[in-house]
Amino acid sequence: MRQDSELALSHDTLAPAQLPDDTKDLPRHPWDDDKLHEECGVFGVIGVTDASNFVALGLHALQHRGQEAGGIVCHRPDHGFNSARRFGYVRDNFTSQDVMETLPGPLAIGHVRYSTTGSKGSTAIRDVQPFFGEFSMGGAALAHNGNITNADALRRELIERGSIFQSSSDSECIIHLMARSLQKDIPDRMEDALRRVEGAFSVVAMTRTKLIGVRDPLGVRPLVLGKVADGWCLSSETCALDIIGAEFVREVEPGEMVVITDQGVDSRFPFRRRNSRFCIFEHVYFSRPDSIIGGRSVYETRRQIGVELAREAPVEADLVCPVPDSGTPAAIGFSQESGIPYAMGIIRNQYMGRTFIEPTEQIRNMGVRLKLNVNRALIKGKRVILVDDSVVRGTTSRKIKEMILDAGAAEVHFRIASPPTAWPCFYGVDTPQREKLLAATMSEEEMREHLAVDSLKFISLDGLYRAVGEAEGRKDDCPQFCDACFSGEYPVEPSDMIEKGFELKAAE
Ligand code: SF4
Repeated sequence: MRQDSELALSHDTLAPAQLPDDTKDLPRHPWDDDKLHEECGVFGVIGVTDASNFVALGLHALQHRGQEAGGIVCHRPDHGFNSARRFGYVRDNFTSQDVMETLPGPLAIGHVRYSTTGSKGSTAIRDVQPFFGEFSMGGAALAHNGNITNADALRRELIERGSIFQSSSDSECIIHLMARSLQKDIPDRMEDALRRVEGAFSVVAMTRTKLIGVRDPLGVRPLVLGKVADGWCLSSETCALDIIGAEFVREVEPGEMVVITDQGVDSRFPFRRRNSRFCIFEHVYFSRPDSIIGGRSVYETRRQIGVELAREAPVEADLVCPVPDSGTPAAIGFSQESGIPYAMGIIRNQYMGRTFIEPTEQIRNMGVRLKLNVNRALIKGKRVILVDDSVVRGTTSRKIKEMILDAGAAEVHFRIASPPTAWPCFYGVDTPQREKLLAATMSEEEMREHLAVDSLKFISLDGLYRAVGEAEGRKDDCPQFCDACFSGEYPVEPSDMIEKGFELKAAE
């Protein structure tokens, strides 16, 4: 199978091909470094005419989970497997008739990527998923959301035993582990492979006749099952079911594998059962506010975070303003609970694209101002509460504060809809090294001084748990979610990182 950005036409007996060492720089916005980044999005459909069109729409709805690149693999019995993998947005790559006509068939999967492993910034096309493997019983393609925490060790072992890797992505380990399995069919090989894998994974895969979805035993990353016409679909989030008119059926459970054929959905649990530890940051920031997670509206959870924040950290002020867009529901909740008027004090330029900032360093240095502008008439002379989703490095928060003061605000108070982010994520979210995280090196008061604001308060971990529906807060002896980036308590030991010198939090 040709794995370049052109369509790869082939039949079921695809052979590994020469891979171009094609790279392309995709510069990031200056403020990109001051946000945690969504990991990836996965989507798959079986049993509909032209499944790739559905997948393209699904990936478009999941674009917030990864903007660097995307790919689709499909299968039609008389055409075999076909694929297209491209840099950039889904809307720019998977909307033209020329491309979509080359992706025929009733079965397709896709992936949008924001590199959390493999090459970053200067992305190689060979790292763009889905990945494909040819096995004696036929081909299989696979798209992975998450991060394998023992990928380095697995890769070393596999290479020593003869595997030839074609990408720098951790996800390719799964294909090679499947190749070494002695099981007779692909779902069983996938089970074998995933039992060797540690970390977080929501996988959507396909064979010639099957659509497969798997979540890791802790269910760190999301995956949902939907029904569309006579077929079925799998998606990272429910918002992508809506766009294709699919009906939400249920979440794939932590540790569950679903194998979907024209006979229906077969469910199995190949891993040792464990308590679920879903990523709590999906509720705060990563997922789209119109998605439903664990039966709860993401928008409503974020609004409730604002309510909790107003109860925990009240302050006298004239206006509550969100830092757009992800701070908006929490700002609404804060305003409702505090009775302080909500206002759009910061306006986001919706049409700011990557390409605009490429030409000159001077424009790049304008940073936040390219994307956000202060509503001066509203802000002048006011005591302003700014509600943001998180503080990572703090550079964006400082610039926003300066913009608000330049516009004549009398006071600036930051309220943050997540606890201090003091630890990196190793489960598929792009976080800076620990020493670059403001909260890793400073107390809350030191951060307030550093940002030079009148007050700074973060929601407590218990407050966040209450907002996501855990009335009693966090159970410290058995936490209900993954919250490692706040607590430093990693539910899966990040063994590769420990080998590289990462120090876990000392026992208290
Ligand atoms: S460490 Fe944070 S971002 Fe990563 S999975 Fe856990 S809660 Fe989510």
